[in-house]
Amino acid sequence: MRTAIITGGAGFIGSQLARRLLADGRRVLIIDNLSTGRRENVAELLDDPRADCRLIVGRAGAQIEAALRLGADEVYHLAAAVGVQLVVDDPAGMIRNNVSETVSVLEAARTAGAKVLITSSSEVYGKCPRLPLQEDMDLVYGPTTASRWSYGLTKAIDEHLALDFSRRGGPACVVVRLFNTIGPRQTGRYGMVVPRFIEQAVNGRPLQVYGDGKQTRAFCDVRDVVEALVGLMAQPDAVGRVFNIGSTRQITIDQLAAMVIQLAGSSSAVEHLPYEAVYGRNFEDPPHRLPDTSRLQNLIGWQPAVTLEQTIRELIELRRGPMLSGSTAEKV
Ligand code: UDP
Repeated sequence: MRTAIITGGAGFIGSQLARRLLADGRRVLIIDNLSTGRRENVAELLDDPRADCRLIVGRAGAQIEAALRLGADEVYHLAAAVGVQLVVDDPAGMIRNNVSETVSVLEAARTAGAKVLITSSSEVYGKCPRLPLQEDMDLVYGPTTASRWSYGLTKAIDEHLALDFSRRGGPACVVVRLFNTIGPRQTGRYGMVVPRFIEQAVNGRPLQVYGDGKQTRAFCDVRDVVEALVGLMAQPDAVGRVFNIGSTRQITIDQLAAMVIQLAGSSSAVEHLPYEAVYGRNFEDPPHRLPDTSRLQNLIGWQPAVTLEQTIRELIELRRGPMLSGSTAEKV
C-alpha cells in the first residue's frame, strides 16, 4: 500500500489532506508535535478501522527518519509555526523551528528516496507592490525591526533549501506557496480572521477589523487547497518548481465582515482597531495579497470549486451545531 507522511498532519490543512489521502486508499502517517495541531482534528481518522492512519507525536525533524523507515514514498511537509500572532510573540523560536525542521525532513527524505512537497507561504512575497503575485517576482521585505517579516524570510529559506536539494542529489521536491486558506478546524487563536469573525458574529459581539478594513485578501477553501497539493505531488513536471495556491477573488476585510454578519443573520456591529493596539508597534500588514495561479492551472488544470459564501455558510453551521443541540438539551 502506498504510504504518505504528513508533518503537521493534525493541523487544519494537514488533517484535511489526511482525509483526502485516506479516501484514496492510502496509508497515512501523521507527525505532529500538537503545539498548534490537535488530536481531535484527526481522532475520527485514527479511530476508523477502515482507515490506515497513525499519529506520531513529536517534532517533524525528530520523527521523520523513523516514520520513513515504515515505508513512506511521499512526504507532505506542512509542520511550521502558524499565524501572525505566534510569529510576533516568538520570532526566534519560529525561525529555529521552520528552518531546522525542514533541513531534517529534506535530509531524511534524501536518504529514504521519498518525494517531498514543501508548503511555503504567501508571506514569502512580503510587501511586493505588484498584483497579482507571480512566482518569479522579486521579494520585498520590511526592516528587521518589524518581526512580521521574519516568517516570510524563513519560508524563503525553506524554498531555497528544497530547490537546492531537489537540484543536487534529491529528494525530488515540489514547493507550494499557500495563500489565505479557510475551513473547518481552523482556530482563530493565532490571528486568523475568518474563524475570529465567525465566532464574534455567532456570539453577537462586534467584529474586530484591524486597520481601516480596506486591505484585501483572497480566501480559498481548504478542500480546494488539498486538491492542488495532491495534484502537484502526482505530477512529475512539478518537481523543482514553485506554485501559488489560492483563490483569485479579492475581498476587503470590511466586505468580509459584512458578509459574515449577513450570512450568520447576526446583529453584530463592526469595530475598527488600530494595528498597534493588537500587534504592538512596528507591525506592518500587507495591504493586498492576490495570487496569480496560472502556473498551477496550466500544469494540473486546477480551479477552486467552493465559493467563499459556501465555506462561510458551512463554517457558521458547524459553529452553531453543538450550540443548538446544547440549547435544545437545556430546554428538554
Ligand atoms: N484581521 C482582522 N481582524 C482579525 C484578524 C485579522 O481585521 O480578527 C485582518 C488582518 O489584519 C489582515 C487580514 O485580516 O489584514 C487577514 O488576516 P489573517 O491573520 O487571517 O491572515 P494574513 O494576515 O496572514 O493574510
